[in-house]
Amino acid sequence: MKRLRIYLNGIIQGVGMRPFVFNLAKSLGLSGFVQNTTEGLNIEVEGEEEDLKEFLKKLKEEKPKISYIFRFEVWEIEKRGEKNFEIIESSESEKTETYILPDLATCEFCLKEIFDPKDRRYRYPFTNCTLCGPRFSIIKTLPYDRKNTTMFEFEMCPECKNEYENPKDRRFHAQPNACPLCGPKVFFYTKEGEKIFEGEEAIKKAEELINKGKIIGLKGLGGFHIICNAKNDKAVALLRERKGRKEKPFALMYPSLEEIEKDCFLSEKEREILSSPQAPILLLKSRKNFSVSPLVAPRNLCLGVMLPYTPLHHIILKDLNYPIVATSGNLSEEPIITEEGEAMLRLKNLCDGFLVHNRKIERHIDDSIVRFMGGKEVILRRARGYVPFPFITNLGNNSVGFGGFLKSNIAFQKGENIFVSQHIGDLETEKAFFVYKKIYEDFKGLFKINPEEGSHDLHPDFPSTNFAHSQNLKLYPLQHHISHLFSCMEDNGTKPPLLAVIWDGTGLGEDKNIWGGEFFTLSREFEIKRIAHFYPFPLIGGEKAIEEPKRIGLGLLYKTFGPKILEKKELPPVKAFKDEELKIITNMLEKNINCPLTTSAGRLFDGVSSILGIRQRITYEGQAAIELEFAIREKENEKPYNFSLKKQGEENGGSVFMISWEEMVISIVEDFLRKKPIQNISYKFHLTMVEIIKEISKASKERVVILSGGCFQNLFLLEKTKETLEKEGFVVYFNQRIPPNDGGIAFGQVVALNYLKK
Ligand code: ZN
Ligand code: ZN
Ligand code: FE
Repeated sequence: MKRLRIYLNGIIQGVGMRPFVFNLAKSLGLSGFVQNTTEGLNIEVEGEEEDLKEFLKKLKEEKPKISYIFRFEVWEIEKRGEKNFEIIESSESEKTETYILPDLATCEFCLKEIFDPKDRRYRYPFTNCTLCGPRFSIIKTLPYDRKNTTMFEFEMCPECKNEYENPKDRRFHAQPNACPLCGPKVFFYTKEGEKIFEGEEAIKKAEELINKGKIIGLKGLGGFHIICNAKNDKAVALLRERKGRKEKPFALMYPSLEEIEKDCFLSEKEREILSSPQAPILLLKSRKNFSVSPLVAPRNLCLGVMLPYTPLHHIILKDLNYPIVATSGNLSEEPIITEEGEAMLRLKNLCDGFLVHNRKIERHIDDSIVRFMGGKEVILRRARGYVPFPFITNLGNNSVGFGGFLKSNIAFQKGENIFVSQHIGDLETEKAFFVYKKIYEDFKGLFKINPEEGSHDLHPDFPSTNFAHSQNLKLYPLQHHISHLFSCMEDNGTKPPLLAVIWDGTGLGEDKNIWGGEFFTLSREFEIKRIAHFYPFPLIGGEKAIEEPKRIGLGLLYKTFGPKILEKKELPPVKAFKDEELKIITNMLEKNINCPLTTSAGRLFDGVSSILGIRQRITYEGQAAIELEFAIREKENEKPYNFSLKKQGEENGGSVFMISWEEMVISIVEDFLRKKPIQNISYKFHLTMVEIIKEISKASKERVVILSGGCFQNLFLLEKTKETLEKEGFVVYFNQRIPPNDGGIAFGQVVALNYLKK
């Protein structure tokens, strides 16, 4: 038995969809419900796996004459075991009258027109219809009318107007409707900011430069991309140099699925995701001899790929007929730039020219990122194509979650709907914080949300926390990892009692230490107990250790072996420091100066990566752990390393296990010095981490285990843990529609408010 939740949005009103779903479910003996939402259906069905498959198949194939489905999100949630299938009426008051579609990838019908030389929209980069095109990125205010979008300044020509006013036309009330005669145009600017071409000539000029290995700033749907030929080593190297982005993988846009398949392994499900109206970046395992430059994703076994999703992208990719790098048009980790003036000013030294257009982007929206993991579709970055579709719950608060620091976003609950804002990014820069504040007002205004209360991270210094305090709201601080817990719980429609394994980089703990390797139990009464965590270890130099895993490796070694270990030059973390540095560090460790303690699992991965000599200094978030994962070579008969669980007696009213990793570090060092291949050591280390989760899960006596936090973006860790726990009879859940990383914090905060503050 399984239960699925299905969000169905599209042009389905008044076509008898609810009775169809009802009869279909009944005929297959499924239980659950179907509920009308403003523009779609919220369906939950429970039954035998085979019947559910049949249900999905028939839902897609036999549905009443539906013109188009914008959103077909399906994911597995916890079973409920009801007997009947019902039609639920949403209460009028809870219905969101404010419904905005996300930006949707070009539909098949528009695509045909764009490449039909006889069509009046032949090669027109702003072709769209009611089934596709910009929405969220162009709307200024509701109602969704042309005059309330950035298309306002373009007056429709008679032919477009006819389409717009004809109820039988595909463009009936398509607000961004446009054609070459009346709509937006593209322009080519030199890097000095001089406009030299328009329309077809502008496109040709950009393509000519890309063919020559140049770098172009491209104004797209939700902001700027920086693009170049992905097969050209020199171009990619130049882009890395100019962007100051050493190794973080670049996203790619391919001309077609066939071209993607030549470079990556691709399942049927993954094809569907790539070609959906959401058209996200999908992380795929790359083939050995892929066609793009190795500089696209150095030392990475995956490629992040997407298909063209606007007519402009389709035209360019078709002409070029090879994959391009399509990375965010920004400086470092700032939000993407949406306005050509700013782009030409700030990206001047990055680009050899700009292909822009005169349709204003009202708000930025990044490409979403998805990966297929543990047999499910997991959204790692929620933005274009998904935002602002709400998440429908059976809760009823009016509240706001201010989020965290990294990968930030904001979540609003308005009755039964939870709106998660688009990905904003790390709140490190002033620009990011500026955008963050803008989005807060933006969502409040667009969706007419007036939160009565809010939740922010326990960390007192996050800009998001400060901002929360500037609002006149009743505030509830929430510990970072507890937010992860609630995000994953609600995402899976599960309820306590449960065990939550929350592993990530860092988050401030209730004891002022830096947490990140936590096990919580959540009781039926919503009582939280931290039942286990890692034995704390020092982060030498504090924050600096995150950038330099050698500091973590050295800290682990020092804690395990004492000061004598600093003489062992054959150990990579020791070798990575100069003698004078080691002296200073010894002093810091002995006197406990600037060596805060952490229980972070993510940092443990970093530390082991350093001890094995894989990575001593990172150039992007998570790199040391990612490269440790990619080093894994599975070998039969390898066993996990030893570790011990020390019972710490009573703490917070329950027994607490301290997970001691010293034995593991001793064995890793021994194996390393014995010249055991680091690939096998990495494998054994990962097995050990899985074993730790298994042992604590057994000790917890819970039946349901949820896995959340950035560490569970590690494919091996997630899948092995799931497999191992399921073998032991546990029910395992992990994030699907809400990211397991800090992109899930804001959502977790608003969910928690429904349960915790009472
Ligand atoms: Zn269309
Ligand atoms: Zn027109
Ligand atoms: Fe986190």
